[in-house]
Amino acid sequence: MQTARHGWIEVITGVMFSGKSEELLRRARRALIAGRRIQLFKSILDDRYGGQFRISSHDGRQIDAEPVSNSAQIAEKVDDESEVVAIDEAQFLDDGICEVVDALANSGKRVILVGTDMDFRGQPFGPMGLLLARADEIDKLNAICVKCGDPATRNQRLIDGKPAPADAPTIYVGGSESYEARCRRCHEVPISIAGES
Ligand code: ADP
Ligand code: ZN
Repeated sequence: MQTARHGWIEVITGVMFSGKSEELLRRARRALIAGRRIQLFKSILDDRYGGQFRISSHDGRQIDAEPVSNSAQIAEKVDDESEVVAIDEAQFLDDGICEVVDALANSGKRVILVGTDMDFRGQPFGPMGLLLARADEIDKLNAICVKCGDPATRNQRLIDGKPAPADAPTIYVGGSESYEARCRRCHEVPISIAGES
């Protein structure tokens, strides 16, 4: 029985399509090869999905994860025996996740957090800024700008095909929204639609 294991927090972050899920799946597979006990969680905006959930990358690979809608649920569900705890879509969690992951790392667990660090405006998304400050190790990945082919670091939100204005809600419910990876130069955030008729 190991008593004084060394815990830490790693964060995989970056824009959408940057390969965060691919990297998480790679680390999860390697932890399984190493015989580590791993638990995977995926934060969801609400728990209507229930049951098992999946972490999938844009290349179609996937692995089952438990759905959670807040940090307290993660604290409750982590098994003492787990050696690796991975949390996907961490940007949707509350700030309480910082205390939870600090406690897990202090108790000797390897914690892997995955989330996009910026919202569609280019501002810190949810608890990601705080998590990056507490991390022992960070990998910030970029994608390819769909407009010019440069490295992309921004999430471009489109609503009905048009750049979403800065005063749109951070988490958009309903309507036809989509996202693109773009570089700083091609990223568009119109100030506001207020006043337009
Ligand atoms: P993330 O979890 O960061 O959203 P994924 O791991 O799900 O990213 O997907 C990354 C994959 O998405 C890439 O390996 C590539 O095949 C594909 N992809 C689609 N659009 C882009 C883009 N604009 N830039 C880079 N990769 C892209
Ligand atoms: Zn560009």
